[in-house]
Amino acid sequence: MNRPMAKRTKMEWAEMQTRQQRAVERAAEVLEALKFASAPIDPLAIIASEKPLLCATGGNFRNRFDGQLEYHRSKNRFLLFFNTKYDRAPNGEHQPRTRFSIAHELGHYFLDAHQAYLRRTGKSHPSRGEFLSDRNIETEADAFAAGLLMPASLLGPRVNDGEMCFADIQAWAGDFKTSVTSTARRAVELSDFPCALIGVREGRVAFSFQSQAMIEGGCYPRLRGSALPPGAQAKWQAFTSGCLLEKEGQSLARAWCQTYDNDRADGAPVSEHYFGVPPTQTLLVLLTIPEEALFPDDDDDSDDED
Ligand SMILES: [Zn+2]
Repeated sequence: MNRPMAKRTKMEWAEMQTRQQRAVERAAEVLEALKFASAPIDPLAIIASEKPLLCATGGNFRNRFDGQLEYHRSKNRFLLFFNTKYDRAPNGEHQPRTRFSIAHELGHYFLDAHQAYLRRTGKSHPSRGEFLSDRNIETEADAFAAGLLMPASLLGPRVNDGEMCFADIQAWAGDFKTSVTSTARRAVELSDFPCALIGVREGRVAFSFQSQAMIEGGCYPRLRGSALPPGAQAKWQAFTSGCLLEKEGQSLARAWCQTYDNDRADGAPVSEHYFGVPPTQTLLVLLTIPEEALFPDDDDDSDDED
């Protein structure tokens, strides 16, 4: 029974989870108020609904930022800038990354503490990237963005319809106009089954997210910076040399996770699904564990007795 985290760290983690959950709930409220109930969600339509307090401008801001929100006191106006440098579609449609950036900035606008900060200081820090930031405020805005673009009410039922693989995730990403990476993360979050998403960069774990059922089953994916199991190391080599052909693998939970409080967890079989994202030099690994491998069957014969 190895506790994966020190008590204090665990409390901070729980606090952060709560704050992220609140950010997701706030996003759901915004959608509900606007009666947005189908994918894809258009973040620019949300901005339009906040006129004249909020105005947006897109432009090629090169490497300065992905998005930025400013408050101009003299006009009592929020200005949202988003970088269109990733947009290449001839019809002017925004790329998933651009849409995520806009939704992230909307998090700074719609989350009360963020907006209060902006009103005090005039400027939000420039936001960049999808979710590698450690700063709590950025993590919250990212959670808001994921909740806004991939609401639980729309994506949740599809995620829990059956066993998930990257073909499903790609299809959802197409419908919600979100990146495969952010869709995979959100899908894991919304899954009722034991699963996790690991992001591999430079041959090591760069980020990991797990479903609630994974935690309840006693499996915590290893932390950022951890080495990969040998099978996954081989997949990473294949990915970096551009020949990741075999995209499925098998291992045991102990290869990927610290396990505790569950005797079954250590040796539970894990299905590995691999998906390479060359632009960000990231190899995504979706781990799924059969429910019955972590949780005992309900030997509940009360139905017969009643
Ligand atoms: Zn930000």
